[in-house]
Amino acid sequence: MLNLEEWCEIDETLYSAETNEQYLQFAGYDYDRKNIEYLAKMKLLISEIFVRTFSQPKTLLLSSIENISESKTKPLELKLHELRGTRVKSKDFKFNGKQVNWNNWRQFNSYEKDHKKRKIVFDEFVKKTKYISPLINLRFRKIREIYSNFSDKVNETSKKPINPLDGYLLSEKIGLSDLKKLVTDLGQRAETPFRNELRYASELIGKDAEYYDDFYFFRNRIFVGIEKYFSRTNPVRTVRKTLESIGFDFSKIKFDISDRPNKYPSPICFFVKIPDDIRVLYKSESPYFNLQSCYHETGHAIHAASIDRKLSYWEKYKFPMGVAEIFSILIERLTRNPLYLKDIGITNDKVLTEIVLRNKFMELFFIVFYAANSLMKMEFWSKNLTIYETSRLYEKLIKRYMGLEVPGEYWMLHHILPESIMYVPSYMIAAIRAAELERHLINRFGEKWWIEPAAGEKIKQIMSKGDDINLNEFSKLDQNIFMKEIISR
Ligand SMILES: [Zn+2]
Repeated sequence: MLNLEEWCEIDETLYSAETNEQYLQFAGYDYDRKNIEYLAKMKLLISEIFVRTFSQPKTLLLSSIENISESKTKPLELKLHELRGTRVKSKDFKFNGKQVNWNNWRQFNSYEKDHKKRKIVFDEFVKKTKYISPLINLRFRKIREIYSNFSDKVNETSKKPINPLDGYLLSEKIGLSDLKKLVTDLGQRAETPFRNELRYASELIGKDAEYYDDFYFFRNRIFVGIEKYFSRTNPVRTVRKTLESIGFDFSKIKFDISDRPNKYPSPICFFVKIPDDIRVLYKSESPYFNLQSCYHETGHAIHAASIDRKLSYWEKYKFPMGVAEIFSILIERLTRNPLYLKDIGITNDKVLTEIVLRNKFMELFFIVFYAANSLMKMEFWSKNLTIYETSRLYEKLIKRYMGLEVPGEYWMLHHILPESIMYVPSYMIAAIRAAELERHLINRFGEKWWIEPAAGEKIKQIMSKGDDINLNEFSKLDQNIFMKEIISR
């Protein structure tokens, strides 16, 4: 029989092979579709071996259940992707010569000058969620069923059936009522400031905010006027220079900056083998947005490259998103910090002030939008809601936190909500922890911690622990630091 060590070796090999194929696909190289399918099958088998053979460590049990539910619903996920391209499609409008569909919708929204056209497409797409909702329903039902089959495996003592939300909470190591309270508190604190700032933001986009002006539309449009000040900054070179100067080692991190036609448009990081083979894909598009996302992905890369190779397989690889995103957000925060931006040559004071204001607005938007998204997803699982009930609840939550009357079906058009089990609250948790971590660094190493090698050393030491991270060292999950930054003007 396979022992745990042997199991881990096989799982890591499969994981690396699969990530490598995904990397090739996203980079726009030839990749072997058959290989990807075979590897997915092998991953399902190795996960099934785990749940049959072992019940510890819990991290691997949970990730195996997640893998099983993902592989078994893969055909439904692929079908959903296909329908989003073929059925969620505009009758009247084109983008770059192609009919607007779900896949190029965000690009259409960020370039289309005529607001009426955006409104028509939005309304049409909301109606067309009827083509994808049965599939979303079926896939989530199946995932729920798979989790409940492992109830006694996860909960050895109690007989309570487990659902996918329980799995998520266990891996994030947070209780349901604590998470709910955290998200609700954040949302409530951001509500009024968000509505006040919405007036300022409306001036920037040249119209009053309406239901079809979503988070992603704002995120693109709001930086348009200041983009040109960043056009001479090379994000890869600058972030690397900063981090190397405080001792980060980039020898295990590969940046691919060439432009291939089939390359994925936004920066993305792959952990092919932790800590030895980390790859970032990057393709230049819009200057400020790229700077932010390039810093974000580099944060992921230095995290993975700093993980201690002597840790066990699961400590090295199976950290939750609420941990992973701390470091990406920490590095991304530099792109909103006027002191740092001055250091990299953005010296126009008016531009720096604007950067801060616009980012504060986007942070508020992030909180109110993600609060509604998170609470909706939590109730969907815990109260076993139908798709119809979920859409009505979503309508109420969006109205409550954002003050806008958005048709509830919109959640099915989001890129994460109809696909992943939870995912969204992890960003909120990590944003709080990243603010706390930066505070910790500032207290010890000064306002400009990014020029202090000792700060680099400290960050590396925190990162090196993988899933065994000591969060208490810098975080009480205290939202005050994060909230005070964005509420004060
Ligand atoms: Zn990230």
